[in-house]
Amino acid sequence: MADNATQNDSIELVAECLCKAHRFTTHVPRSSLPLSSIYCHCDSCRRVTGALYSTYLPWPGSRSSIHERIQTSRLKRYAFSESTTLFSCETCSSTLFAATPARDGSDVPDYGVTTGVLHNTSVPNFIDIAHHIFLSDTKDGGATPWLCDSNSSSAARPRLWSGRSGSSEELSSTDHKWALPLNAPIPASTPVRCHCGGVDLVLRNPIPDFAVLNRSELPWFVDPESNKSLGGFDVCDSCRVSSGVDIFHWTFAQLAHIAFATPDSSSHFPSSTHDLAAALTSPHRDPRLGTLTMYQSSSDVQRYFCSACSAAVFYATDARAEMVDLSIGLLRSSHGSRAEELVSWDFGGRAVWREDVAGGWREGFIQSVEAAAERWRIGRGLPKNFRRVQKEEAAAAAAAADQE
Ligand SMILES: [Zn+2]
Ligand SMILES: [Zn+2]
Ligand SMILES: [Zn+2]
Repeated sequence: MADNATQNDSIELVAECLCKAHRFTTHVPRSSLPLSSIYCHCDSCRRVTGALYSTYLPWPGSRSSIHERIQTSRLKRYAFSESTTLFSCETCSSTLFAATPARDGSDVPDYGVTTGVLHNTSVPNFIDIAHHIFLSDTKDGGATPWLCDSNSSSAARPRLWSGRSGSSEELSSTDHKWALPLNAPIPASTPVRCHCGGVDLVLRNPIPDFAVLNRSELPWFVDPESNKSLGGFDVCDSCRVSSGVDIFHWTFAQLAHIAFATPDSSSHFPSSTHDLAAALTSPHRDPRLGTLTMYQSSSDVQRYFCSACSAAVFYATDARAEMVDLSIGLLRSSHGSRAEELVSWDFGGRAVWREDVAGGWREGFIQSVEAAAERWRIGRGLPKNFRRVQKEEAAAAAAAADQE
């Protein structure tokens, strides 16, 4: 929901984790808008968020004040790399800050705040994307095809880099060069592993199992043509704040297709969400569950994440006991970060939970992303996703029924 955090010529910027245990604020002058964010698409960022990227904004307030606040907080520290430390909420997994060595040589590090944890302030053009970095890691361009046209003016397009901004090859355009063959070979299993490796699972190729089912027996998330699993654009407040990115991308999997990376014929990965929740706290907890842990974000919703690096892993609900939403960023596809050999993407479809962004700065951003993804789908000659066709047909049928 949008909030009215405006004060005369400055705007209050609020960063807060999902469980609300941690909250940081500062004021930014209106004249400094839009603020500039960086999207990092590197392998490590995808594996530490579970998303297709990490998104940071240099903290726009006093460096010494935020340093003091973070260092005296109970935020959990994670050594992301030799030079970068991440700060996350231990309870709900939201990553709020990254500390990197100060560019001016100060002993006090520079802090970036994840854009997903920022309140949805009702100020248009609040944040522009300045750079997309480490695109070469994605192999397929990742999310950049729909993240290059959302800035406040068309003159301010983000710059694209194969590696670091300013010191790697600058890429001229996303267009079609990032499209990969949709029917790339699929290995028997694809690793599902977080940045620290504490969550070390595999997704067994589900397509042969789905292919032999009658179409009427397919789970709702399976594309009846390709037998791939739906991949969508999720902008719900809870997924945004817990992952730290503004748009999260889930696919879906039956728990029967998830396995431990080290198989053992005597015990298997839990086959229902109830068994999974119970397995975490069992006195006979399987050590192969590793660092997998869970936050109950509402009475029937469980968010599974890595307790060490905070990567989002699964979203589960009591009502869908046989399946989970699965973080696409953890899928270690050999073909590309979008894992198109397994995922039937709803490019250009309406983002789910779009009502959550209404009235805030993200509303225009999401609309432009939907439109860019639709142009890209059409440019690649892809049909509308099956799920979108189903929804459009249902809406048309309901409208026709209303007329009668
Ligand atoms: Zn929290
Ligand atoms: Zn990165
Ligand atoms: Zn981890």
